[in-house]
Amino acid sequence: MSGRDLATGLSWTVGSTKVTSIVEQDLWWRIERFLPDAKPEVVASIPWIEPFLDDDPSVFPLRVQALIIDTGTHVALVDTCVGNDKPRDFWSFDQLATSFLDEMTAAGYPPEGVDSVVCTHLHVDHVGWNTNLVDGEWLPTFPNARYLFGSDEYNYWVRQTDDLTKATFADSVEPILHAGLADFVPGDHVIADGIRLQPTVGHTPGHVSVRIESEGQHAVIIGDMSHHPIQLQRPEIFSTADVDPAQATATRRTRFAEWEADSVLVIGTHFAPPTAGHLRSTDDGWQLIS
Ligand SMILES: [Zn+2]
Repeated sequence: MSGRDLATGLSWTVGSTKVTSIVEQDLWWRIERFLPDAKPEVVASIPWIEPFLDDDPSVFPLRVQALIIDTGTHVALVDTCVGNDKPRDFWSFDQLATSFLDEMTAAGYPPEGVDSVVCTHLHVDHVGWNTNLVDGEWLPTFPNARYLFGSDEYNYWVRQTDDLTKATFADSVEPILHAGLADFVPGDHVIADGIRLQPTVGHTPGHVSVRIESEGQHAVIIGDMSHHPIQLQRPEIFSTADVDPAQATATRRTRFAEWEADSVLVIGTHFAPPTAGHLRSTDDGWQLIS
């Protein structure tokens, strides 16, 4: 079911800012378990979705990637995937041994050069490379960065008692706090000139997306406010991982309308290639024009 595709990630330019994808892995998730309302007849009714489908109609391809924003004066790393060596009772996330950091360095971004680490939310596949294992200890991977955690997001998840959340916090969040590298920020926080957070709650209570503006051009890294492009055309299709599916749907409708109006390049954190495009409204949603 799952595979590895270490093909070089894509990159985009937004004015004078560059956005670079570092791919950790490509996955194929069962549609009926993950986006249960994406029935075969719904998928078949959306011709433009074809590049985002698999030969096997029961699965959707899903990319796990980090996105690096480089303004020329500030390097922000958005979402840190699953990470290496982490014991996870979850298929395809357990004890990974990828070359993710080497690929970051090869792309021109060694860990020491990252100024900000942004977690759109605190799920297991967005915080992993916050830390790496050094002599049996989980240490911050990006020693010169401030790690930005949404206040609402942290305050929700720190109270959860399920095993996955506890394990994720223990090895990927708490070591950042102990090292004094964490900043708790509001959902509209300005990270640097031309990079700011934008609230996109619903998938999780403090979920944020990351807006980029340079020389009059706009982009957004959406995080998990949508997992697959089919949710652009049909915003009511929820994910079984959504904490508040109704709110997630309302957020999609509001933000998609806004991003279309502002000609924002939408970069899907979990979207398989081509991964990004502009929105054009249709009768029942939005089309992604890649
Ligand atoms: Zn995710």
